[in-house]
Amino acid sequence: MTNNLSPWQAALQQFQIAADKLGLEKDLRARYATTKRELTVHFPVRMDDGSLRVFTGYRVQHDTSRGPAKGGIRYAPDVTLDEVKALAMWMTWKCAVVDIPFGGGKGGVICDPTKMSLGEIERLTRRYASEIADWVGADGDIPAPDVGTNAQIMAWFVDTISVHHGRLERALVTGKPVLTGGSRGRVDATGRGVSICVAQAAKFLGMDLNGARAVVQGFGNVGSWSAHHLAKLGAKIIAVSDVSGALVNRNGIDIHALMEYASKNKNRIEGFREADRLDKEEILEVECDVLVPAAVENQIRADNAPRIKPKILAEGANGPTAPDADPILQANGVFLIPDVLANTGGVTVSYFEWVQGLQGFYWTEADVNARLTDVMVNAFDVVSATAQKHHVDMRVAANMVAIDRVVQTHKLRGLYP
Ligand code: NAD
Repeated sequence: MTNNLSPWQAALQQFQIAADKLGLEKDLRARYATTKRELTVHFPVRMDDGSLRVFTGYRVQHDTSRGPAKGGIRYAPDVTLDEVKALAMWMTWKCAVVDIPFGGGKGGVICDPTKMSLGEIERLTRRYASEIADWVGADGDIPAPDVGTNAQIMAWFVDTISVHHGRLERALVTGKPVLTGGSRGRVDATGRGVSICVAQAAKFLGMDLNGARAVVQGFGNVGSWSAHHLAKLGAKIIAVSDVSGALVNRNGIDIHALMEYASKNKNRIEGFREADRLDKEEILEVECDVLVPAAVENQIRADNAPRIKPKILAEGANGPTAPDADPILQANGVFLIPDVLANTGGVTVSYFEWVQGLQGFYWTEADVNARLTDVMVNAFDVVSATAQKHHVDMRVAANMVAIDRVVQTHKLRGLYP
């Protein structure tokens, strides 16, 4: 049984499958089957009640052959080094799939931001930023938001490092608010990218998205904007869930109204009136045409995969599907768009934000969205052509495209000394 693989073990297994197909040499495998650097920090934060609490955080760089490490920072109670390592490896492959000049990194702090005040989150962010300051930088390692973090937290992060350096570090972090040097179009970029991939997959399958039934697990940044953009393409969002529960309405949920409701309800969907309640564990099994898991890892496993049968499954989240579920989904005819392709809209616009920050020249939202569409359509086409050529599924194909690009770059640069 591989059900209980940790995220790092799952990432390694996916890597080995694609490396086998590529016939990758043993010594190069050993290089990518580990990370480049792993930093663990323990640091105190003054809480509102006057007490000191010691937190643990991580920053991991998986590979930097193609450019600075790039990857978000996660604030969650169950963050582990194992998980951060997996997320860093997936970032390496993601940046290579969309062919942007970054390597892979990731960070995280073990904390529960839902139980902390804004002041506590700001102090934690500033201290964590100080602790990992030597590692981050526009040419070295560029953080961004992930689960439990947002644009405001990125603004505090960049302000802290800028104070350390005595100058404004515009390109050091992405996902910042537009007023502090963020990119237009970044906030919804991951969800927009998910919908671009779903549109490409529908075209590939000859399927009409107009009226197609869509289900979204997770209603944070990725889930809510995926739902929004799928609805704009004509899909009917019949069920959504978040940590507080799940909602279902076969006539379609008004996503705009739900986003407004959640923003006034501590980002939770519970209590929204225009839908019925559903057990949140059942959401993935609701019969639908398009399914977007956009919450956390390991949601689709061998035990529930036989009952999950959408036409298109687009992984908004990182690692939502365990390796042992992949063959089951494939046998059921599910067209899977893997995380390393489906959710790259965010890192692609982060790349645009980095470019704009380095140049001090800011683009229009229409320009950002048009460039994002170009990048994602091209990546989808390259991955689906690879899948057809090698008779593999889209996950193996995406990893093959990515690993090959990283390896070619590595070989051209050579090995020091
Ligand atoms: P977020 O914190 O904004 O939202 C996470 C959502 O998942 C919340 O609605 C939360 O309530 C929900 N959730 C948590 N556990 C759940 C569960 N067991 N069942 C149902 N819902 C649950 O985070 P996000 O930025 O939207 O990230 C979501 C996923 O997408 C993560 O895997 C993240 O790594 C990935 N991702 C994020 C980005 C980005 O730009 N933010 C980019 C690429 C990938």
